[in-house]
Amino acid sequence: MATLGKYTDNDHICYPCKAFEREIRVYRPYFHFCYIPVFPIGPKQFEVRCTNCGDRTPSENLIRKYERRAKTPFYLYSAIILSVAITAYWFYWNNNNQKHRAEFVGNPAVDDVYIIKEDADIGKNYYFLRIAGVRGDTVIAFHSNLQYNYFVTSLSGDDYFVKADTTIYLRKQLKDMLERGEIYMVKRGYGDGGGFNRIR
Ligand SMILES: [Zn+2]
Repeated sequence: MATLGKYTDNDHICYPCKAFEREIRVYRPYFHFCYIPVFPIGPKQFEVRCTNCGDRTPSENLIRKYERRAKTPFYLYSAIILSVAITAYWFYWNNNNQKHRAEFVGNPAVDDVYIIKEDADIGKNYYFLRIAGVRGDTVIAFHSNLQYNYFVTSLSGDDYFVKADTTIYLRKQLKDMLERGEIYMVKRGYGDGGGFNRIR
């Protein structure tokens, strides 16, 4: 239940005591998710009380007046606003990621790290490449020692790039991999956080 409004009314007489002061509260049942009201699941409800005699008889005129006045407060839209913001941010991030990927793969630089996603027998396989050298049309890369069967963005604690085992790619091959969606992410200018500086 969410409170839409709390009012004091001085326009309508209380018949039992003839006073003109009523307290009106307007509620509406809402579907809540994580304590956030998301959408209404019933009509508005009214609680009327005469502050003089305590009489709780609602009058139709009174209800009509405050029915109109009790607008849905801004915070009840919070869930919708929050989800729109998250979606917008995701699109922005994804768009940025795609732009960077195309830019970086088109112009590979030493130390770039690629997250590779490949089809496996069951699900997907993830591993990392780190560019060790670029010579003309060829790109030399270290691969991570481990492969992962779940989405990763950083090396696991005991993983590292294998210095003794390099793979040679043509620039064209990398572009094809990008087009097939196999180069899932490209990291450039990373810090120590991802473990990408571990080469053994
Ligand atoms: Zn009264």
